[in-house]
Amino acid sequence: QPPRQNTKKNLKSPSDEFYNRDDVQAPDPRLEARLFGSQHNSGINFKSYDNIPVEVSGVEPPKPIENFDDSDMDALAKHNIRLAGYSTPTPVQKHAVGIVTAGRDLMACAQTGSGKTAAFLIPILSQNFKDGRGEESIPDRRGTIKPVTLILAPTRELALQIYEEAKKFSYRSWVRPCTVYGGTPIGDQLRDLERGCGLLVATPGRLVDLLERGRVSLSNVRYLVLDEADRMLDMGFEPQIRRIVEKEDMPITRQTLMFSATFPRNMQMLARDFLLDYVFISVGR
Ligand code: ADP
Repeated sequence: QPPRQNTKKNLKSPSDEFYNRDDVQAPDPRLEARLFGSQHNSGINFKSYDNIPVEVSGVEPPKPIENFDDSDMDALAKHNIRLAGYSTPTPVQKHAVGIVTAGRDLMACAQTGSGKTAAFLIPILSQNFKDGRGEESIPDRRGTIKPVTLILAPTRELALQIYEEAKKFSYRSWVRPCTVYGGTPIGDQLRDLERGCGLLVATPGRLVDLLERGRVSLSNVRYLVLDEADRMLDMGFEPQIRRIVEKEDMPITRQTLMFSATFPRNMQMLARDFLLDYVFISVGR
């Protein structure tokens, strides 16, 4: 996509907090209203979080953040968090932001509704913004897309949900999120990928298809997330997941985050095989 601030209509004003950052696009009021306009009640009951225990283990676990603004995150990430109306981080967010910004791997046991989607999206996008714009977003000469962030999710519904959140938190940045999932024609998804993709939300089967077609390469992945990993195993996706993580050319220098409601034996094996020197957190129960 062309840089927005190069068109007359979308010049940044000198009073803009990001006026001097050429990696940040001008505000787009219509898009902003669409992304952030109808803030629904989050459904998160913050009061009830006060006494939820968080168990943390691992070597020298990084300190959790207290609030978003005082954290080490990129200013654009903080800006988008404010636009989304998040004032207080949930427990899993406090820990995940500390762990991701410290460069560590994470295994998190947390229930749906704990704010785990934002817990991985916010710090990863913040790191993306700090890392700066790479050559990764546009297809290479052979038409292959090389996302920097890969998020695996079990279902189309969850993939779409993560994708919608990713659009919010990547607002005004160079990170272009895309999503691919099965059960729907691949053509539209391919055309969307061709417009550039820095962050890809995928279900395992459809991603394997794209890898086999040579349309996606994992050689640029710096951040890998497995969301609802136990559910992906229950649905029989282990061969596809292992293929994606272990048999493609995904760099081992990546950071990996796994989220799961439960931590049975097969999950422990995945954690052992995919994570390096990880921090384990368990929220509630
Ligand atoms: P999970 O991924 O654990 O199911 P979500 O991340 O979807 O939970 O969060 C549930 C809802 O709460 C979403 O509508 C999300 O936008 C909102 N939410 C998440 N974190 C916060 C926060 N820190 N402050 C306010 N709302 C939040």
